[in-house]
Amino acid sequence: RQPAAGPAGESAVEALARVWGYDAFRGQQAEIIDTLVAGRDALVLMPTGGGKSLCYQVPSLLRPGTGVVISPLIALMHDQVDALEQVGVRAAYLNSSQGPDERRDVERRLLAGELDLLYLAPERLPAAAGLLDRCQIALFAIDEAHCVSAWGHDFRPDYLRLSVLHERWPGVPRIALTATATVETRREIAERLQLQDAAAFVSSFDRPNIQYRISPKQDARNQLLRLIREEHPGEAGIVYCLSRASVEKTAEWLSSQGVPALPYHAGLDAGTRAAHQSRFLRSDGVVMVATIAFGMGIDKPDVRFVAHLDLPKSIEGYYQETGRAGRDGQPSTAWLAYGLQDVVQQRRMIAEGEGDQQRKRAQTLHLDAMLALCETVECRRQQLLAYFGEPSEPCGNCDTCLSPPEAFDGTVPAQKLMSTIVRLQRERGQAFGAGHLVDILLGRENDRVRRSRHHELSTWGIGTELGEQEWRGVVRQLLAQGLVQVQGEYGVLALTEAGGEVLRGRRPVRLRREAPRREQERARRG
Ligand code: ADP
Ligand code: ZN
Repeated sequence: RQPAAGPAGESAVEALARVWGYDAFRGQQAEIIDTLVAGRDALVLMPTGGGKSLCYQVPSLLRPGTGVVISPLIALMHDQVDALEQVGVRAAYLNSSQGPDERRDVERRLLAGELDLLYLAPERLPAAAGLLDRCQIALFAIDEAHCVSAWGHDFRPDYLRLSVLHERWPGVPRIALTATATVETRREIAERLQLQDAAAFVSSFDRPNIQYRISPKQDARNQLLRLIREEHPGEAGIVYCLSRASVEKTAEWLSSQGVPALPYHAGLDAGTRAAHQSRFLRSDGVVMVATIAFGMGIDKPDVRFVAHLDLPKSIEGYYQETGRAGRDGQPSTAWLAYGLQDVVQQRRMIAEGEGDQQRKRAQTLHLDAMLALCETVECRRQQLLAYFGEPSEPCGNCDTCLSPPEAFDGTVPAQKLMSTIVRLQRERGQAFGAGHLVDILLGRENDRVRRSRHHELSTWGIGTELGEQEWRGVVRQLLAQGLVQVQGEYGVLALTEAGGEVLRGRRPVRLRREAPRREQERARRG
């Protein structure tokens, strides 16, 4: 095996070819590498699959000493070190999964200058600091740098201590990398890691080969099955569900329908998880049904679709998860089914969850941005990129571009729903969830209606101009727009202050027309 550190004076592109067998850098890789080789700091925002790893691996080979990579995910470290060793790079890691002998061996190799790269879990940094003092460090790479963001979705308290790198080893260049790129996160990373003077490299977050589609949830499993059978038969995909139980049930059901599907969530034992992951990676056409515990660092280029059966909590999460599709650049689908229950459930989870008011406000902002993406009548990609601060034109490759939804004046239906809510509350002191309200609007007699004499309400049966699905769409959109809110644990609905304005005729409501058949038509057109 050849030593990875090449001849003195080897250029970056020569190292790339010799070690990895690639003939050119992608995007901004070359400039980023030059910055580090010259001893300057860099802040890199690049989408998943953009090629972040080479940005610190190559300069670690070109600079004297060992490149130290701070990485939050132990499983990922292991894979990275394996992959590096396969191409002859001398790499190792230090983390809590190791026994003392193994750890001592890594330390010995580090001190002997026998390592090109050392992966370090952030919580091990204090213990390893003395060791690092005694060796030559080529650079520090801080992977998943958005973990410093206290209000982000992946906060790791240990990341806050990483400012010590700059203080203790001021001459060592640092590179912080992330695929999460809101302006706010970027500012937080620069501030907390003291990287205000670093050269910033912001790649486009556009993934033009991914077709974004968000559909009203009707019969989510069958909608999913249609997607797989009609558009991605025999192809690899990931299906995200919120709960472990729904992961299990969905995987079982897909299997019973002849789709090779495997479950993956944190409740499965490590052996099963590893076996399922490796089957997904190695064989063709396996569908992984997973919670969001699955996917970080998974490098499978030919994932043809990512489906969400539940609403992601934030656009960052949605973008990261959908970004696992199509890393080979081939056409791929990001599909999300989203319904009234999702909004109710997520609002409730925030209200009842842990955390102070500030945290809840941040979570609500994240959810609202995600809901706005779901309900938009504009180009999804344009809205997604705008969220990351990137202006763009309508894309032509998302559902709203391909079959533009109709927006309509929904003020009257909104008022009908709202006055039903208000009447129940004022006249009867009662509150109900969406299902019962829709029954009243549609004038549907059932036991509950008769028992509570709701057929005597003045709003009984005043909503027959819309069907049940459409009404559920109206409720969902009013929830998304913050005109109606969920109260208490039973999902009962109440007006918000802004909703009161609508009811009093002081504020119009724009809604997106639900088009249940569109999705099938599109699939048939191919
Ligand atoms: P990220 O960490 O940004 O998600 P990776 O570093 O894992 O991305 O790279 C994604 C894939 O692209 C990997 O398979 C990697 O080998 C490949 N890759 C990265 N840079 C290049 C390049 N310059 N030429 C060819 N392949 C590349
Ligand atoms: Zn579009």
